[in-house]
Amino acid sequence: MTTAPSASPTGDPWLLTPGPLTTSPGIKEAMLHDYGSRDTRFIAVNRRVRERLVEIVNGDDGHVCVPLQGSGTFVVEAMMGNFVPPDGKVLVLVNGAYGKRIARICEYYDRATVIQETPEDTPVDPQALDAALAADREVSHVAVVHCETTSGILNPLQAVAEVTARHGRGLLIDAMSAFGAIPLDARAIPFDAVVASSNKCLEGVPGMGFCIARKEALERTKGNSPSLSLDLYDQWVSMEQNGQWRFTPPTHCILAFDRALEEFEAEGGVAGRGARYARNCRILIEGMRALGFRTLLPDALQAPVIVTFHKPVDPKFDFEAFYDRLRRSGYVIYPGKLTVADSFRIGCIGRLGPEQMEGALAAIRETLGEMGVANCMPAAA
Ligand SMILES: *Cc1c(COP(=O)(O)O)cnc(C)c1O
Repeated sequence: MTTAPSASPTGDPWLLTPGPLTTSPGIKEAMLHDYGSRDTRFIAVNRRVRERLVEIVNGDDGHVCVPLQGSGTFVVEAMMGNFVPPDGKVLVLVNGAYGKRIARICEYYDRATVIQETPEDTPVDPQALDAALAADREVSHVAVVHCETTSGILNPLQAVAEVTARHGRGLLIDAMSAFGAIPLDARAIPFDAVVASSNKCLEGVPGMGFCIARKEALERTKGNSPSLSLDLYDQWVSMEQNGQWRFTPPTHCILAFDRALEEFEAEGGVAGRGARYARNCRILIEGMRALGFRTLLPDALQAPVIVTFHKPVDPKFDFEAFYDRLRRSGYVIYPGKLTVADSFRIGCIGRLGPEQMEGALAAIRETLGEMGVANCMPAAA
């Protein structure tokens, strides 16, 4: 039913997911070029993209942006392999699958790791971090996920950064699903490195990640990387030398990203983008609660990125059937990723506005009616 009035201009469904996301027509159009990797036009675009990304976090001359081919996980892995030296030790704050993935990367790389875990519906704990760092002087780095996309929870980055800095350790941030929508100011949040990708809140297309690093910290990573293709230091040094990527650059992805950053600035940067997502999130949560659904998180912990809803206890609710019917109505939602409760997720990022959120709610209401689901309350806790 891609011709339904709800359909996007391309006839594709709206993506209410954590990525890939719905992109604007202008971003898709920006890719209608074939640039060679040494083309001066391409080199200029690449330089501009890198500079703009540093500006988004209010970075200064002491910060650099190193882009990297691949999905977001590639650049998370690159950050861990580069910044934690072979004789270092990393404390990973975990409250979901992406924190666990960081710990798993450290295992692959044989880096000494300690995990400090809180439940999926609970923010990471800066006080416990404080105690752990005081007790373990071997910990050289702390790794944290800004918005844990598993649940949609916002972690207290400011407090984590303050504690980490007070103990003189390096902070490594996975800001994948927050970057561009939730403020992260390098002047207030001292970090060694922060990573994100082209296709989440910055609304580009998938294909590359980037690391914004404190130059001084990056300089010290020479020789640390266990991987050639993920060696951020090498990528940085060679890009500074000739403006080029070491290996085939994702040229179309960078052209799209350049256009995406232009649209991002036109929308008012982090404040403007964050405000649209917050409004999307409000409409979604209020509409779903009116239908009887319950959110996993209280509003105070919810990032305006992706919302986790408890699965209704009504036996007529079957997630696969629910998903398929919504997909046919032009809306793609996402399964849950929680280990503790049966749930599903609906995203509010990408090129979506009130019209798409209202449209999704109307489709959900209709689908529930067709399925005969009368009660959307979760099982009693
Ligand atoms: C999306 C995401 C990633 C990277 O996922 P990829 O599928 O590799 O792009 C990493 N961390 C967080 C918090 C994310 O939301």
